[in-house]
Amino acid sequence: MQVAAKKIIVLGTGGTIAGTAAQAGDNVGYRAGERPVQALLAGLGGQALPPGLELAAEQVAQIDSKDADFAFWLALHARCAAHLADDAVRGIVITHGTDTLEETAWFLASTLPAGKPVVLTCAMRPATALSPDGPQNLCDALALANDLGAPGVSVVSAGAVYLPQQVQKLHPYCVDAIGSGEGGPAGWMEEGRLRLAHPWPSQGAAAAPWRLPEPGAAWPWVEIVLSHAGSSGAQVDALVRAGVDGLVVAGTGNGTLHQALEPALRRAQQAGVAVRVTSRCAFGRIVGTPAHGLPLAEGLAPVKARIALLLELLQRP
Ligand code: ASP
Repeated sequence: MQVAAKKIIVLGTGGTIAGTAAQAGDNVGYRAGERPVQALLAGLGGQALPPGLELAAEQVAQIDSKDADFAFWLALHARCAAHLADDAVRGIVITHGTDTLEETAWFLASTLPAGKPVVLTCAMRPATALSPDGPQNLCDALALANDLGAPGVSVVSAGAVYLPQQVQKLHPYCVDAIGSGEGGPAGWMEEGRLRLAHPWPSQGAAAAPWRLPEPGAAWPWVEIVLSHAGSSGAQVDALVRAGVDGLVVAGTGNGTLHQALEPALRRAQQAGVAVRVTSRCAFGRIVGTPAHGLPLAEGLAPVKARIALLLELLQRP
């Protein structure tokens, strides 16, 4: 069924890839989310897709991804889910800002079926740049979305392909700002073909549909708290008083916590707030069990642990 599917869907959401600056060559003073996704595709001059495939583009949002919110995620999830259920659809490309790309990738990977490619791509330079990176990234994403050997959510940027769990924005300016640290890329896009670094992992397809809020309904309130020199419990106590539902703590090193923060987190737990501890280190994962014994969000960066906790809280009866 899928082999016969010929349609690649491109969902535009904004970002720098769709950004424009008043002056060509200005790579910083631009507005993200200006060009429609149809214009980005038109800019490729019809060269981007292997023959026999059909392209359909939809503008789901037109935002700077620093402003991504629950309504944006729900709208994007709904369009992806509808297209993935269509037998004619072979794969999906999402054009997205780099700022919260890793959060959207993890949210979609956690909640969508993983049978077909869903490829997020982005740019660090606006469409008006003297040498924009968006067009090649979009070409690579279209080729990857056509590859039935790469099902599930992935990210392609600057010629490399990344998987949702480890992908991060690592640099505020350079063209290859997206990476996976010590995990490295899952592969590379070379002239429209995926060269794998290792066998494509099967992504944990959501076994059952996740319960997501109806548009406009409230989500749980989950905040991220950082353990740092001079930490106190005051921020945690204030959040608990204000009614927070969950706290993700970006702990030091191997998931350790400032001695002034830990008692406040225990008070939060006793008040019914879900607490998950991660590490603020950019790479690696917590090894063993830190002495505080608070629950860990193993292997996830704080922003992704927050998404995992949101989804967990949403499934509670
Ligand atoms: N602020 C932009 C955004 O995330 C940056 C980018 O697209 O790279 O939408």
